[in-house]
Amino acid sequence: MNKEVMTQILNKIKEYNKIIISRHLRPDGDCVGSSMGLKEILKDSYPDKDIRVINTDYAKYLEFLGEEDQQVDESFYNDALVIVVDTSNSGRCSNPNFSKGKEVIKIDHHIETDPFGTICWVEEEKVAVCEMIVEFYDLFKDELVLSQKAAECLFTGIVTDSGRFKFSSVDGNTMRNTGILIDTGINIEEVYGQLYLKSKNELLLQGALLRKVAFTKEGIAYIIINRKIQKKYNLLPEEASAQISLIEGIKGSIIWVAFIENDKKEYRVRLRSRYVAINKVAERHSGGGHERASGATAYNKKEIYQILDELDVVCKEYREKNQECL
Ligand code: AMP
Repeated sequence: MNKEVMTQILNKIKEYNKIIISRHLRPDGDCVGSSMGLKEILKDSYPDKDIRVINTDYAKYLEFLGEEDQQVDESFYNDALVIVVDTSNSGRCSNPNFSKGKEVIKIDHHIETDPFGTICWVEEEKVAVCEMIVEFYDLFKDELVLSQKAAECLFTGIVTDSGRFKFSSVDGNTMRNTGILIDTGINIEEVYGQLYLKSKNELLLQGALLRKVAFTKEGIAYIIINRKIQKKYNLLPEEASAQISLIEGIKGSIIWVAFIENDKKEYRVRLRSRYVAINKVAERHSGGGHERASGATAYNKKEIYQILDELDVVCKEYREKNQECL
C-alpha cells in the first residue's frame, strides 16, 4: 500500500468539484467495477461534487452495476480532475477526451509500461484495481462512505479479476478487503448469478466449441471462434470472448488461448496461463496485460499460428526448468 500517493490522490479529489472517471476499452468486471465503485464512494462522500463515469464502450453483462454517464462538452474538462482506472497504456482508454482534464490520475495494477498522468498509483501485484479502491476507502474511512451499491461494484471486480479467488495474486489482504465489502450486506448469490449463469444458447455453443478445441505440441489448448459460429449462435462479441474460460483447467495445458474473430477478419486474442509469463508474447502482437492474463490482436490466420509457436517456445523453456507443473 502506498499511503503517500493515496493521500495525494485524496487531496486532489478534495480540490476538484468536477471529477471524471474513465477506464479501458472492452470493459471487464474490474474496470467497470472500480470506476462505478469509486464514483459511488465519491458521490456519497462529497454530495456537492459533480462526479461522472465517462467512456465510449460498454459490456452488456455488467449493466447490473448501473448506467455510466454520457460524454460531456470539452469545456467540462477544463477544470476537471480525470481519474483513469485499470488502464495500463493511455491508448487503451475508453474515453478519447481523458487527457483534456486539468489533471489526470492513473490508478492501475497492470505491468507499468506507460506511466501517464500527474499522479500514478500502480500496484502490479494487486489482483484487481477494485481491491486498491477498497484499500483507499479503508485508509480514509473516517471521511469516505462505502454504500452497499459501491461494495457490489467493487466485489464484482475482485471476483472477476481473481478468477473467483483462485489466481496466485490472491492473498490474505484480498480476503480481508473482500470482507469489508461483504460486511455492507451485499447479495453474493445475486452477483454470481449476474456474472456466471449461462443461457441455454450458451450451453449449446459450448458443446459445439468443445469439439473445436485443439492443442499445440507443448499442450497449449486453443479455440478459434470464427464469425460463422458467432452468427449461428447469435453471440455478442463479449459472449464469444467469455468462452476463454471453457478451456481453462485442463491438466497439462499450462497455457490456453481463445482467438475471437471480428467483422474485420482480425482476431481478438485472450491469453491465460498457470505458472508461466505470457505477457511478452502479447506485447509482440499489439497487446499486453498481466504475466498470466494478457490480450493481443492477430491480424490474420498466419499470426494466430505465429502466436501459438511463440507460446510453445515459452512453454517448452518453462517445462525444461520446472519438471513438475500440472
Ligand atoms: P483480456 O483477455 O482482454 O481480458 O485481457 C487480459 C488482460 O490483459 C486485461 O487485464 C487487459 O486489460 C489486458 N490487455 C488486453 N489487451 C491489451 C492490450 N492491447 N494492451 C495492454 N493490455 C491489454
